[in-house]
Amino acid sequence: MPEIVCYGCSARLSAQEFLDGSSAWWERVDCLQFRCCRCAATFEVRIESGQVTFGYTYAAGGPHFAGMVPISVPEIGARPLEQGLQVTFGPVTKLVERLPQSDRAT
Ligand SMILES: [Zn+2]
Repeated sequence: MPEIVCYGCSARLSAQEFLDGSSAWWERVDCLQFRCCRCAATFEVRIESGQVTFGYTYAAGGPHFAGMVPISVPEIGARPLEQGLQVTFGPVTKLVERLPQSDRAT
């Protein structure tokens, strides 16, 4: 089974655990919220094909995502859809709903 190591506690999370903890796709900066079910730490993560980047967002004339730790995850991929970000991690797929555009201040 594919898995990913939590940047906060180094626990090995299954695809299901990782996707269960993922929510709130912020389309404008292309990241989403991730809360680890083991250590309860919250991160902002960017998911790209084959890679997950743990980081944070900041405002500098607009919101930006600052990636800190890129992790190679060959089994992962993300596809933007009208309803949200469809994340596929190995055999598991989840539609992560997008944040409302006005939901977060810059
Ligand atoms: Zn953790």
